[in-house]
Amino acid sequence: MASGVTYLDYQSTTPCDPAVVEAMAPWWSDAFANPASRLHRPGLTAAAVVQQSRTAIAGALGLTAEELIFCSGASEANNLAIKGVAEAELRRGGTRRRLICLATEHRAVLDPMRYLAGHGFELVCLAPQPNGLIDLQQLEAALSPETLLVSVMAANNEIGVLQPLEAIGQLCRQQQVLFHCDGAQAVGHLPLQPRALGIDLLSFSGHKLYGPKGIGALAIAPGVDLAPQQHGGSQERGLRAGTLPVPLIVGLAKAVELAEADREARGLRLAGLRDALWQRCQALGGIQRNGAGAPCLPHNLNISIAGVEGTALHQALRRSLAVSSGSACAAGEPSHVLQALGRSRLEAAASVRFSLGRSSSGADVQRAGDVLEDTLKTLRRA
Ligand SMILES: *Cc1c(COP(=O)(O)O)cnc(C)c1O
Repeated sequence: MASGVTYLDYQSTTPCDPAVVEAMAPWWSDAFANPASRLHRPGLTAAAVVQQSRTAIAGALGLTAEELIFCSGASEANNLAIKGVAEAELRRGGTRRRLICLATEHRAVLDPMRYLAGHGFELVCLAPQPNGLIDLQQLEAALSPETLLVSVMAANNEIGVLQPLEAIGQLCRQQQVLFHCDGAQAVGHLPLQPRALGIDLLSFSGHKLYGPKGIGALAIAPGVDLAPQQHGGSQERGLRAGTLPVPLIVGLAKAVELAEADREARGLRLAGLRDALWQRCQALGGIQRNGAGAPCLPHNLNISIAGVEGTALHQALRRSLAVSSGSACAAGEPSHVLQALGRSRLEAAASVRFSLGRSSSGADVQRAGDVLEDTLKTLRRA
């Protein structure tokens, strides 16, 4: 990256792969027609590439094209899934009102949930175990005949912890409760097959898997009833009005293809680099790993550092590193995820998320270790 800053913030967003940019190129200005224009050949060409892309993306998830709705990203997909299910339940005169999620969900799940809690639904927000994993017994106890939906993410955006999706899916199925999963950090990074896991609704996003920003999708299992959250046209089976962004859809398909192609090798390589960085951290002393002991994404390392103040820490780090202190979205507030694990506000503020990606190298990790070491020497002396 330019400016001498080492980018280790791939869980905030990834660069669009050059091959993705190349795949999108013809669909901006040359083949620009609206895929809803079925009366002329250019429109049909656009519709065909959308269908081809939809089939390829769905196929990577073990799904059929009909199960995939394109939208602007995981935030929108989460809103459509959660509010769409709730509104559909009201519309059909159903009586299920309980919604369950984990306290460490992304705000794009928590906020729609809280919105519904202010509109006649009951929200049960489960505390995670200290390692970040859901407590399945607590989930089982919270499930009731009044429960409509459970939303638990696949991989946490801050601490990388992987939730036991299959077990959650089984519990949901027993009670005929819908299971939504925010897969923004998992699709393209893990071999996620929603059908086998009992996931009814899966959200994901292009820009978290080396695709373009502004495109994502919601996978909807057959028979799941959703109320549209955006009205104005019959696109996407009437579930999401708006002209389809053909170049972004082509780009998402290419990104998914590339991510699947190098997923395993990339994971192994990045886990090696991540483990080396963690060893380095341990040698510095006074550093604990958040989510320790739970299964974790191969490219995530989240640490809390004793004896330093969060603002000073990040002010020093950002001269050389692009890293995150928890969530990019909650400006100024210490991470709700780390606090849910039992970290104090001060500990949560003095935390760093390193997230590695396709172009991360051994030299990047070496530099991160050096910068952290120098920074802690200075700050701990002060
Ligand atoms: C990035 C992210 C989102 C939001 O995705 P957008 O496509 O940026 O709207 C939602 N959930 C998780 C877990 C994420 O990491």
